[in-house]
Amino acid sequence: MNTMVSSDIRGLTEDELILVCQEIGLPKFRGRQIFQWIQQKAVQHWDEIKNVGKPDLEKIRGRLTLEPLQLLREQVSKDGTRKFLFQLADGQSIECVLMDYDRVKSRNRRTVCLSTQVGCPVGCAFCATGLSGWQRNLSAGEIVGQILDITHLMRQEDPEFQVTNVVFMGMGEPLLNYDEVLKGIQILNREAGQNIGMRRMTISTSGVAPKIRQLAEDNPQVGLAVSLHSANDEIRNDLIPINRRYPLAELMKACREYTEATNRRITFEVALIAGQATQKAADEVARLLQGQLAHVNLIPVNPVVETGMARPEPEEIQRFARVLEQQGIPVSLREEKGTDIDAACGQLRRQWESDEK
Ligand code: SF4
Repeated sequence: MNTMVSSDIRGLTEDELILVCQEIGLPKFRGRQIFQWIQQKAVQHWDEIKNVGKPDLEKIRGRLTLEPLQLLREQVSKDGTRKFLFQLADGQSIECVLMDYDRVKSRNRRTVCLSTQVGCPVGCAFCATGLSGWQRNLSAGEIVGQILDITHLMRQEDPEFQVTNVVFMGMGEPLLNYDEVLKGIQILNREAGQNIGMRRMTISTSGVAPKIRQLAEDNPQVGLAVSLHSANDEIRNDLIPINRRYPLAELMKACREYTEATNRRITFEVALIAGQATQKAADEVARLLQGQLAHVNLIPVNPVVETGMARPEPEEIQRFARVLEQQGIPVSLREEKGTDIDAACGQLRRQWESDEK
């Protein structure tokens, strides 16, 4: 038995599954068939796999596990955004969000925001996940499992349902769980599985500079978003404590290396917080990004009771965008999704935990 291969079938690449089949005396093509049923059809139980005979399935079951995540709670927003709280096999819970954009306007775009860790060690000041601390990294199977279980749930309403885009922007810092995130991306990209294009997946980081460099080297063709939030080290130290380890100069150096190596534009996320979205703050962002292949995404914060932060007035948001545009920085305002549910990452989990106490 190859002990390097994990036992969770949903976390295996097609090649690994083929290898397992060979190890237990099954033909190679069985690996591909089973990969298709697990990944493309998002089956939840072994007996739903219809194109493999019982004796062969029994052999696979003896070697691998198939354990869907358990849905603990679901919230549906008026705008169609759905938030899911899933329980993992060890009892921990994670959140993910499905943004089901209007079909006509967005040509059927269904984006899922995935979690990559249980909790998060970064502890950003505006984030409910950070408040809960870090418990552990998710495995590739748990990362992919979020897509598969959402697909399974949604296909009960719409048999044609298919996730088209993925953002690694839920609970956790994806680049601090680099290997499992990249493996999850490979699995989701596979044609025989979910077949989600690399360019339709985006990793969002708080600014782990060495891992941005590694991503430039590995160049998996996915998008990169950096949570900038402030172009002032003093302010950013308070907002995103990892800035003390990788301050702006080092972060921007890694970003420049990334764009030089990949020729891809980085999206810089800037959360707009009431009282901090000033003209000076916008000027600092524009200055920092001069000469960088960049796009700025402005995100008015979701109010989180525990952090006491509020969204700026619409005029302040417009002024911030104007300052960047006038200095030649492409900018967009992120469409607000699910503001009537606990859409900020980590909020649903905290609410669930306090309800259970
Ligand atoms: S915003 Fe992201 S990186 Fe920061 S604490 Fe929350 S989950 Fe972690």
